[in-house]
Amino acid sequence: MQVVHRVFQHMRIYRGLEGFHLFANVVGLNAEERAQRLALLRESHMPFMVTEFYANLIATAAQPDRDRLLNIVLPFRGLRHFSGRFDPYGNVKYRRDSMHFLQHKYAPTLLVHMYDFCISNCQFCYKVNEIRHEKQSGFGFSAKIDAALSYIDGHPEINNVLYSGGDPAAMEVCRLIECMARLLVHPSIRTVRFATKVLAYNPGYFLDADLLAFLTRTNQQPGKHITIIAQLNHPAEMSADSRRALAALAHAGVQVRGQPTLAAGINDDEDVLVRLHQEYIDHQIIPYYFTVFMPVRGVEQYGIRLHHAYAMMGHAHARLNGLEKKGVLLASHDFGKFEICGFLPDTWMPREIVLRWHERPFDSFLPRPLVERYPRDHQALLLLKYDLERTYCIDHLFEQNGLPFFDSEGNLRFSSA
Ligand code: SF4
Repeated sequence: MQVVHRVFQHMRIYRGLEGFHLFANVVGLNAEERAQRLALLRESHMPFMVTEFYANLIATAAQPDRDRLLNIVLPFRGLRHFSGRFDPYGNVKYRRDSMHFLQHKYAPTLLVHMYDFCISNCQFCYKVNEIRHEKQSGFGFSAKIDAALSYIDGHPEINNVLYSGGDPAAMEVCRLIECMARLLVHPSIRTVRFATKVLAYNPGYFLDADLLAFLTRTNQQPGKHITIIAQLNHPAEMSADSRRALAALAHAGVQVRGQPTLAAGINDDEDVLVRLHQEYIDHQIIPYYFTVFMPVRGVEQYGIRLHHAYAMMGHAHARLNGLEKKGVLLASHDFGKFEICGFLPDTWMPREIVLRWHERPFDSFLPRPLVERYPRDHQALLLLKYDLERTYCIDHLFEQNGLPFFDSEGNLRFSSA
């Protein structure tokens, strides 16, 4: 087995069991921590993989930040109150036909799935099943772009493309440039965007001269934008190299938006959230979506109750100014993105939750009973019963309210609650 895997020149990646032990030496896990983390890793379905850069960042972080960064790449010991499932955002489910790498779920947005590789694996990631199999389709990058361009020709409502992975910034720079450039020449396409955690795992990637020159040229064209969605989950992930990369991206005219997952053991803390928002603003990252951990199989200890997430964000917002607190708190699901708007009568003893259907997919992606109960309305408000003890995600909520939901095996079920 290859222990230290080289994806890019000059970058080392620790992966597999032997990689774990090398990583454990770097970050200074004692024998007890090592045994405990390894046992939990065996229960997770996400393979272990971490860049040397991130290992060094963890090694030099002060407590309690060190443990929180460690929890991003290694599961921690915590209670599991429910059974999760694979593919809780329907990422795989909805791409089964011959063009399975294209997903057109929301009218203006085409998702192009590039590949399933990341340079480090986050243990809480909802794409665990894709990443653990890391299988390429028979289509190369160029064929995927060709297919995307011809799909856009037939769908004038599409004005932006979202590259998905894995992490698109795990591609070689020249490949990423080619993928973005080819899409942006299409007259309908205003924005190409992709979400990445490379700003934490290997920020030097974004200092590449060719990439910055391309971004600068593109962002100077009227009506054309490249947007990067930064998955920085904890303020201690903002290294000196991350700051340099973000300054370079700002100089190139790139809009960077912050989209952290909210997860237990990582950022379920008011002070951490205040610092995270402030780091964003200090480094020109616009707070975007704050997404509550989805029910991922094997790592359910990362789960946060929805009312806790809401209360935590509320407390953090009370300490932030208007510019800093612009993120939207979301619970994402196969059925779209739901904004968590509030609880009734309050967050201490909530009996009802108010959701707004922030992003509703085409009806073809939704079960008929849901469409009948909520006829198409992009601003639909859902007032639902809330179970203080048992609700961690949309599946729980919908099951408790007699709405279609997915069980932990990923089967669509129709509850009679
Ligand atoms: S980098 Fe992104 S896609 Fe990869 S494991 Fe982490 S959250 Fe998932």
